Amino acid sequence: MEKITIACKKCKKQMKIQNKPAKYRCPYCSEVIQVRKTRLILEKGRRVSKDFLKTIADLYKTISYKLKLVKNSLKKK
Ligand SMILES: [Zn+2]
Repeated sequence: MEKITIACKKCKKQMKIQNKPAKYRCPYCSEVIQVRKTRLILEKGRRVSKDFLKTIADLYKTISYKLKLVKNSLKKK
C-alpha cells in the first residue's frame, strides 16, 4: 500500500498514513484525523505539482550550468 504524508491539523506535524480513506491517529498528539477520499486526491495533486516544479527547477539548473560552461569556454578563446 502506498504511503502518503499529511500534516496533523492539531500539532501541524507531518505524519505518514496509508493512501486510503480512514481515520488515523496522530502519533505525536493522539488527535484522530478523518481522511476522506477528496483529501487524498488533493494530496496527490499537490505532490504531483511539487514533483513537476522540482523537475523544472532541476532542468533550469542544468541549463544555466551548461550556459556557464559555454561562456567560460568562450572566454578562453
Ligand atoms: Zn498531531
